[in-house]
Amino acid sequence: MSDIDYILYPEWIVPVVPRDTVLVNHCVVVTDSRIVNICPSSEGRKLEAKRHIELPQHVLLPGLINCHGHAAMSLLRGYADDQPLMTWLGEIWPAETAFVSEDYVRDGTDLALAELLLGGTTTFSDMYFYPDVTAERADFVGLRAQLVFPVIDVQTAWARDPEEYLAKGLALRDTYRNHERIEIGFGPHSNYTVSEETLQRVATLANELDAPVQIHLHETRGEVQMSVENLGERPIEQLNRLGMLGPRSQCVHMTALSEGDFDILEQTGAHVIHCPRSNMKLASGICPTQRLLDRDINVALGTDGAASNNRINMIAEIQAAALIAKLENSESTAISAATALEMATINGAKALGLDNDIGSLEIGKQADMIALRLDDPALQPVNNVLSHVVYATSGAELTHSWVAGKPLVVDRQLTTLSVATITSRANTWRDQLLAFRAQRSSENNAHHQENNPQ
Ligand SMILES: [Zn+2]
Repeated sequence: MSDIDYILYPEWIVPVVPRDTVLVNHCVVVTDSRIVNICPSSEGRKLEAKRHIELPQHVLLPGLINCHGHAAMSLLRGYADDQPLMTWLGEIWPAETAFVSEDYVRDGTDLALAELLLGGTTTFSDMYFYPDVTAERADFVGLRAQLVFPVIDVQTAWARDPEEYLAKGLALRDTYRNHERIEIGFGPHSNYTVSEETLQRVATLANELDAPVQIHLHETRGEVQMSVENLGERPIEQLNRLGMLGPRSQCVHMTALSEGDFDILEQTGAHVIHCPRSNMKLASGICPTQRLLDRDINVALGTDGAASNNRINMIAEIQAAALIAKLENSESTAISAATALEMATINGAKALGLDNDIGSLEIGKQADMIALRLDDPALQPVNNVLSHVVYATSGAELTHSWVAGKPLVVDRQLTTLSVATITSRANTWRDQLLAFRAQRSSENNAHHQENNPQ
């Protein structure tokens, strides 16, 4: 019996490394969880393998890496639209206080994982309550994940105070310390929701453990101004003073940057996670991605939660990243198709500390791969497969997805989740959430009338 599990024969391969490369008439050979060869198809066909899989109209790519999100917030998709960040949070937080539980997080996470997989994501980072439930679902469904447990000053359903957030999070990190696909890190929410004392503890613990830290940082100009007024320093300056920034830290959003902010990112090796659609929808600001990359600061991509996007589709995020950079710079050469794709693959792998294993299709790496079928009329003719992936696809072209060699999507069917079950559970939550919102709105109206008698 052959040691080779399967050989894939796509029409095109975009390996991402080397940059700007498109291979034709090549195949990818997979044994166990790894890519063991990428060679001319004629050579592959001579090899003995358990399966030879033809993908005649497809492009094969490394699986996309979504570096920032809140999976269970999928249940709040469209719940509070067209509002600025703080007003939006004022709608979202009460709903979360009323509903977030283990069941809610399980159902919201399953919904998110289905959408992520069908849109080409194979690795995701998540920051949400009950990360133990998210970890269990990621383990079961088969995606690769970095889960950063929340740390915040206020009490939520998951924990009472910073002490308990940290204790529960560290216990979870211990549970998954030897897991092949899941790493647990620290997720202090932001410098405006976490005290300096707690941020200091997170920095010290994360450095001791060499664990990832992900934080919302410089999401809006207002956040930066508030920090300067309250603390006398910019949010990134505070984190730098506390020793939180380094090659294992991931700064999410990073708009409204000063020259000094660029210097701190460059000197510390901290990564930037750009969430262009969330930033546009909440009118938060623009992350200067091209200028960051020009300074050799790593920039990866994230969708943020579905409540502020409203998709968690990395192809949409890649397109937005390329387009917004061109507009921001008044320069159509800013963030080329190849660069945008790198941000969603190899740069994401670097941000999560996984670039030895994922982020490109290379011999020896994990077989985290996706196939997109490019036979739709909207994609003809395929003059330039790499730019088609970035500018012309929607994610609906995805037919196959593998993580560590294991198929998670085959012919656009999920292998480990039932869409019917996920949808029915999501609709049950929708009914409860809409009833809650209606009640809140009528209470607010009554309150308003009391205070403003006619
Ligand atoms: Zn976020």
